[in-house]
Amino acid sequence: MMARFRSLRWRLTFLYLGLLAMLLLLGGVAQYFAAREVLFRTNADALTSEYNSDLLAFRKQIATRPATAIRALLLSQQFARQLASGHTSAAIFGPDGGLVISSSANITPDVVPPTLPTQDYLNALRSQPKPYYLATASDGSVHLAVLNVLRNGTRALGVVQLSIPTASIDQALSADRQLAIVGSLIVLSLALVLSPLIVGRALRPLEQMSTSADALAAGDYKQRVAVPRSGDEIGRLALAFNQMAAGVDQAFEVRRQSEEQMRHFVADASHELRTPLTSIAGYVEVLSRRDFVDPETLRESLAAMQRESSRMTRLVNDLLTLTRFEVASAPHRQALRLDDFLNQALDELALPEHGAAVSRQIEPGIVVDADPEGLKQVVTNLAQNALKYAPGTEQRWSLFSADGRAAIRVQDSGPGIPRRDLPHVFERFYRGEQARDRSTGGSGLGLAIVKSILEAHHGAVEADSQPGRGATFTAWLPLAAVKQAA
Ligand code: ADP
Repeated sequence: MMARFRSLRWRLTFLYLGLLAMLLLLGGVAQYFAAREVLFRTNADALTSEYNSDLLAFRKQIATRPATAIRALLLSQQFARQLASGHTSAAIFGPDGGLVISSSANITPDVVPPTLPTQDYLNALRSQPKPYYLATASDGSVHLAVLNVLRNGTRALGVVQLSIPTASIDQALSADRQLAIVGSLIVLSLALVLSPLIVGRALRPLEQMSTSADALAAGDYKQRVAVPRSGDEIGRLALAFNQMAAGVDQAFEVRRQSEEQMRHFVADASHELRTPLTSIAGYVEVLSRRDFVDPETLRESLAAMQRESSRMTRLVNDLLTLTRFEVASAPHRQALRLDDFLNQALDELALPEHGAAVSRQIEPGIVVDADPEGLKQVVTNLAQNALKYAPGTEQRWSLFSADGRAAIRVQDSGPGIPRRDLPHVFERFYRGEQARDRSTGGSGLGLAIVKSILEAHHGAVEADSQPGRGATFTAWLPLAAVKQAA
């Protein structure tokens, strides 16, 4: 249960509700004080106008009296009684701020009517009185009071205070307060019911994402989530989630394919190795079954076994070269002048001794960053293929640079590569149709090795052929950062 309330949904709900409650409370308090101020002021205004009309009526009553008597009458119990009515009590203070007379309908005689500090009366006499005052009576009740300066002509006779108990105002306010509390509670309980629903709805894509992530982790890489059209953070998260899922899916697809390739490779390699092994085992069995073997047969058998075993050695060496360049990317690189390198490599191969004419067209001064041993293997494999598949024809070697790359190209004028073989010649263990028939055909790894060496150098290899008119192979390598002059 606790865990449930720790969820984002409930945390957001509680946060929202807390905020709402705080705002309602603040609003309520502010509204209460504002209403109280308005009520105080309207009551004070009513008291002042009551005073003005009473004063006017009293002055009319005493207008016929002699001028000396008027002053005394204005400060008399008679006037005070006229002013007091209902809840309103009246008190008259002299020019020194002292109480002259007071009258009240409600306050019992032993209760002194509410009075303010003397300073308030003196201040009122000197300047404008404040709109209202709050005074405490001797019984502790709070009264709302207004002060009016009593004048005879221009002379200030004293201050008249009219006051009413605030209890009646507070009653009106308390009804208001109760209404505000009930209203706030209704709003809060509505929010309590609605906000988990709203928050839950907004967070639904997140829940979906967590379910999908679980499924993804369990191996279902096709999992995607619906992207809400809102374009908000959750929408962007859903989009990012889907991109991630697609990335994972793709990565696993690539891995699956490379595992598949690896399985094929192991199966092909085992198959290739089994052929010479079976053959050697056959010779051994035939020889061991005979009591007497004539020297001629023995010599032939041993020669055949040697052939098979050197075929195996070649195959194993090819496999080692292939894996070496596939695992590490060109381990021993150095700046290499290709003109010198190619001339030397072709010289060492002594191709004319194997019946091939060689022509060279070499652009000087091309420098690449390469592993000489690996590059030599490339030249050797291409030259040997031309010897094998285009025997007795001319090999035209060229070296040039184009598009920021260096190219070593060999062209022969042999039978060329059939169109259906051309896309596959760089695959491991792929042998063209003629090569398959031929007993001297290689393992089908030669061009795969060329390709993996060049790719380890961030280069590439291309094959081109017009069937019947020879084959062309081009090895591409990136130029070294500094291209040296010839
Ligand atoms: P292999 O060990 O069979 O020579 P490669 O990988 O070197 O394997 O070559 C793959 C296939 O490409 C060969 O079996 C052959 O059919 C074809 N091929 C390669 N070089 C040439 C060439 N110069 N002329 C015609 N076909 C070629």
